[in-house]
Amino acid sequence: MSNFSICRSCGRQIMWIKTKAGKNMPCDPEIITYKAAAGGRERIVTTNGEVRSAELVESGTPGADGFGYISHFATCTNAGRHRRK
Ligand SMILES: [Zn+2]
Repeated sequence: MSNFSICRSCGRQIMWIKTKAGKNMPCDPEIITYKAAAGGRERIVTTNGEVRSAELVESGTPGADGFGYISHFATCTNAGRHRRK
């Protein structure tokens, strides 16, 4: 279902998750607990493949909506950076 690869920008391990929309999204391989929030700062993919705006919370937090994976675009240390000479 999902497969691992290495980010070409930062060299970290990433996991490709297929979303319900049929797109493959690169995510960090660590599972996270999220609370859905309109306008949430994080873009996450749930274990069902739904992309949602959410806030990350500690596991076991009351009101948490479930588990998912955070988009690697949000955490990539080289995202949007140009290489300096
Ligand atoms: Zn990266």
